[in-house]
Amino acid sequence: MNTSPVILTLAGFDPSGGAGLLADIKTIHALGGYGTGVITAQTVQNTCHVRATRMEPPELITAQIAALMEDTPPAAVKIGMLGSAAVTDAITAALKDWQGPLVLDPVIASSSGHPLYHDPLSTLLPLLRRATLITPNHAEAEQLAQALDCEPQDLPTALGCAVLRTGGDLAGGTLTDELLMPEGWQQTFTHPRVDTPNTHGTGCTLSSAIATLLAQKKPLEAAVAEAIAWMQQRLAASTWQIGHGRGPIRHL
Ligand code: PLP
Repeated sequence: MNTSPVILTLAGFDPSGGAGLLADIKTIHALGGYGTGVITAQTVQNTCHVRATRMEPPELITAQIAALMEDTPPAAVKIGMLGSAAVTDAITAALKDWQGPLVLDPVIASSSGHPLYHDPLSTLLPLLRRATLITPNHAEAEQLAQALDCEPQDLPTALGCAVLRTGGDLAGGTLTDELLMPEGWQQTFTHPRVDTPNTHGTGCTLSSAIATLLAQKKPLEAAVAEAIAWMQQRLAASTWQIGHGRGPIRHL
């Protein structure tokens, strides 16, 4: 019998499917995993704007994670939008006895500027410390460093986890993503910016791709390199028009 590794995503729900849990599930399946998911927060959004958010009850999230852990324990977990400290605390507790690779995309605000985390960032720190890898963009890395009273380059030692600082939020035709390791070494991945409006959910997609490749037992550096190359290829293939704003990536 063929088995596919299970990747559990804990993420917000974007009804337009560009970001959040739907983007995660499409990514996981495109890369050969089986995706399970727990919704942390509902959002009201389309390809143009986020209009509102509402967090799911923490006890529902806890019960859903427990049910999945009993029956389909994941080979990797990906965490996206958390929304509030109450949700973060519930997830930290629910994952207490689970040991596998954990990729966390610290979603603080949407690209259109709508806040997606509503409590002080210091409330994220216990869960960040449990992560294998976090994937902030430059703005998010800056804000996390402020919460820890350190420089962004020092996040890996301050948190004890690897940090992939993505460069998509900086201007320019060439992007650099930096993998910073707690042991002190780093690796950079430089690539041309793909000219497409369909970039909604790039953070969700990249972090889910890395979690899927880690679930397939690839080493961290190889998983990051392969996920970046795969996302570049899918962005280049996103020659469709869906909605009137930043459309979705064509995952499959
Ligand atoms: N909605 C949800 C549920 C998300 O998880 C995210 C980002 O992670 C967004 C919206 C924002 O996506 P973008 O930064 O592409 O606007």
